[in-house]
Amino acid sequence: MKVLIKNSNVVFDDCVKKKDILIENKKISKIGESLNEKDSVLVNGDGFFCMPGFFDVHVHLRDPGFLEKETVETGAKAAAKGGVTSLCCMANTKPVIDSLEHFKLLEEKIKKEKINIFPIAAITKNLEGKELVNFKELSSKVFGFSDDGFFVENSKLFKKAMEEAKKINIPILSHCEDTFLLDDEASESVAIAKTIALCLLTNCPVHICHVSTKDSIMLIKAAKEMGVKITAETAPHYFMLTEEDAKGKDPNFKMNPPLRKKEDRAAVENAILDGTLDCIATDHAPHEKENKKDFKTALNGVIGLETLFSSTLTNFYHNKKTSLSFIAKILSKNPAKILNIKNKGEIEIGYDADLVLVDINKSFEVKEKDFISKSKNSPFIGKVLKGKVLKTFCGGELIHE
Ligand SMILES: [Zn+2]
Ligand SMILES: [Zn+2]
Repeated sequence: MKVLIKNSNVVFDDCVKKKDILIENKKISKIGESLNEKDSVLVNGDGFFCMPGFFDVHVHLRDPGFLEKETVETGAKAAAKGGVTSLCCMANTKPVIDSLEHFKLLEEKIKKEKINIFPIAAITKNLEGKELVNFKELSSKVFGFSDDGFFVENSKLFKKAMEEAKKINIPILSHCEDTFLLDDEASESVAIAKTIALCLLTNCPVHICHVSTKDSIMLIKAAKEMGVKITAETAPHYFMLTEEDAKGKDPNFKMNPPLRKKEDRAAVENAILDGTLDCIATDHAPHEKENKKDFKTALNGVIGLETLFSSTLTNFYHNKKTSLSFIAKILSKNPAKILNIKNKGEIEIGYDADLVLVDINKSFEVKEKDFISKSKNSPFIGKVLKGKVLKTFCGGELIHE
């Protein structure tokens, strides 16, 4: 089936131009003016913007094992609604994705979904930080390795993991939090410093998860200037909110790392704009109501797939800090690059037809009842965001409208 998206403002890597886009055999086959194609389904893009599908490198689908929070199916639907056509799912499920046998439990489910799901395997067996997984055995199935939720404290083991990952050229995604400094903000930067030093030693590609403090950013910036092979992400809550927003003790403002000070929020925002941070990921971490009742006892984590685009657009584009091309870079192009995924993240002839049609000026209030994720723990409930995903195409197929 052919699809022809007419007259949308196409967000390219370096400019925005009104064009028609023809989709054939799951790929973008033509980009031009006044395209006509027999037997194609017409989509009117007039007045709207067409962007590359968003790529979220940090998602917890909770499947297998925690199906009351989310499933591969509900997570994929939430992603499609948010314009996320590709995502990486973390390994801290039950069982942990630390072997081919456990991976099979996930593989069956992933195959059924229409979005692209790139699984991440654990670095250590059962995330215990004691014994490495079999990197080689998993290399044909997964796109990254991460003990997300935990930092690999044993430096010797972490170094060995980087050496293994380097051999197969698959990145390590590091949850940086020094376990012995948990209540201290420096917990993050100390773990990042250690990660950078090991990365320098092994030359393994390492991606740093959910960066939230100004000290962390200083270290990442210095490391990049030294040529260390690292990339880094932050999440919308770290540039939209501060610890003051959590003062109401709403459990939906409880996540790990926690919300930080005003200076940290500003540093995160600047680091996105100057390229120190490469992309925005959600760390989508669904929890059922039962575990989000009271701030003290609530589990860490917030959902994010359905608000990723709107929050990023509101904060960076509508506040006149950057262009739409830059938004596409941090939500689509850079994430695909970090994970070594070819033909995704940009609107170019020959690229996969993972596209979103968005209304950048549509404002809406985030409401609990509108989330299609199985969990509703969003810190943005009640906030007005500007920019809405109208249609999501993945591999040329319309998967959300
Ligand atoms: Zn984490
Ligand atoms: Zn996470």
